[in-house]
Amino acid sequence: MSADVPLPPLREIIARHGLSASKALGQNFLLDGQLLDRIARVPGPLEGETVYEVGPGPGGLTRALLGAGARVVAVERDRRCLPALAELAEHFPGQLRLIEGDAMAIDEQAEVGAGAHIVSNLPYNVGTALLVRWLMTEKWPPWWRSLTLMFQKEVAERIVAKADGDAYGRLAVLAQWRCEAKIAFGVHRSAFVPPPKVMSAVVHIRPIAAPEGVTPAMLERVTGAAFGQRRKMLRQSLKSVPGALEALAALGIDPSRRAETLEVGDFVAIAKVLGQG
Ligand code: SAM
Repeated sequence: MSADVPLPPLREIIARHGLSASKALGQNFLLDGQLLDRIARVPGPLEGETVYEVGPGPGGLTRALLGAGARVVAVERDRRCLPALAELAEHFPGQLRLIEGDAMAIDEQAEVGAGAHIVSNLPYNVGTALLVRWLMTEKWPPWWRSLTLMFQKEVAERIVAKADGDAYGRLAVLAQWRCEAKIAFGVHRSAFVPPPKVMSAVVHIRPIAAPEGVTPAMLERVTGAAFGQRRKMLRQSLKSVPGALEALAALGIDPSRRAETLEVGDFVAIAKVLGQG
């Protein structure tokens, strides 16, 4: 297929390659070209930029990214999708590199290089694990420039939540301690084939300056303990972290408070004091 012949509709691609959606692989495909273009605009102009996409499936989002002028590196676990994606690669010569494999297992940095935007309609079963891995990379600024990710709406709300709300927890702290995280827009369940049970939303995350003297490992330890027992007072939930109660005292944080009342900056301050101990 050459670049001057229009691409066939995605429904035709799915039918021709027999890509019946697999629940086990979290397959809910997006076919609406306008919505896909809208997602591809979230990271900003992509002409000449590198994009890493997890789970291209039949290639709807991939098309939109390639059409916006990006060089795309895409990792797909379902080998049934590869012939359809190879056709797409032919249509956009030199712009698409396909990797067959598990996004959880590949060395992304080695495959993609630095400065890539990550854009993905994530498989729900590995979505949060991948997000945490991208957020908690040791080196900062990270190897990626921005994250544009589709999540179930409830997970998206947990990522951008502020203190004192029900959705606020470990994920909000990990997403916000050295990033700006916002919901770009909601996506109705009917936009997917097959439609999932719940609504979705696209989250946009950009790295900002990291606070000095705080390691990702220490922050994870503190938030893990604090929110592991979120209904308990900090004096109980943080007991398992050596030095944490002394850190609360040094910072003037009342130990009878519960984790969900602490701002992101409070967790950062606790992790910093502990890092110095
Ligand atoms: N990008 C397509 C779209 O928007 O229509 C498909 C999105 S679908 C929600 C998730 C895709 O991720 C599927 O194609 C699925 O096969 C793939 N996938 C699931 N687990 C994966 C993994 N561990 N590594 C790479 N791809 C995976």
